[in-house]
Amino acid sequence: MSIIKTEHLTYTYSIGTPFEKTAIDDINIEIEEGEFVGVIGHTGSGKSTLIQHFNGLVKPTSGKIYIDGEDIWGDGVDIRAVRFKAGLVFQYPEYQLFEETVYKDIAFGPKNMKLDETEIDKRVREAAAFVGLKEHHFEKSPFELSGGQKRRVAIAGVLAMRPKLLILDEPTAGLDPKGRERILGQIREYHEQEKNTVLLVSHSMEDVAKYTKKLLVMNQAKVFMYDELEKVFAHVEEIRHMGLAVPQISRIFMQLNRDGYPVPDNVYTVERA
Ligand code: ADP
Repeated sequence: MSIIKTEHLTYTYSIGTPFEKTAIDDINIEIEEGEFVGVIGHTGSGKSTLIQHFNGLVKPTSGKIYIDGEDIWGDGVDIRAVRFKAGLVFQYPEYQLFEETVYKDIAFGPKNMKLDETEIDKRVREAAAFVGLKEHHFEKSPFELSGGQKRRVAIAGVLAMRPKLLILDEPTAGLDPKGRERILGQIREYHEQEKNTVLLVSHSMEDVAKYTKKLLVMNQAKVFMYDELEKVFAHVEEIRHMGLAVPQISRIFMQLNRDGYPVPDNVYTVERA
């Protein structure tokens, strides 16, 4: 069963003005439930615009989008319910923290879902523990916390809604390596729990190689490829030509191999060619 399916999905910003820009153009993809997908592509290729369609934040200019089998812009569909099912963590989500306390910030989503107080409390505690926040943080202002902790509060706020589809736009941007590993590890754990589907937009080839199993490569408003990691990496030269910052892929894989991660055979061949 596909959790995301798009048909001719197209979005144009500022139609009819000199700033008109088609950010995603005729996208036809199908993502199966339970996948962990990395979304890569150069800046401006349409990644953010695309993922914002997956939780109904943006309404397509044309085309259709099905989440969990439902045409989300079809008649009678409650788009708010779609947003609970498909949780979106924005870039630098800590800028969207606004409640007086950490607890209230994490509780914001579950409250909107109209859950009862006991269930809200359970979810806040569960999500906070999941991202490694302690009870003594609950009554603090989010603004008293460190950068990494604020980021974790923001992610916990989305996890507290228990979305079966979790979408994250550069969740590790600006964090140090330790903070990055920690957050990506938690995201992987969320994916492994109950086969939740995760989409991770990332600039880091190393992170997607290490954590995700499939890659969606965007290029100039189109999907260049959607396939398993090793199949995508077989096209590494083409990806490089798109202007993507592809660091020394073979080096990364060798490092990952030393760390015990499986390395696709074709990667070395491609690098040597
Ligand atoms: P990415 O996430 O891959 O960097 P975006 O989806 O942000 O790509 O942007 C795709 C294209 O749409 C870019 O050319 C960008 O300039 C344009 N764009 C993004 N947001 C807006 C907006 N609010 N108004 C006009 N153009 C936009």
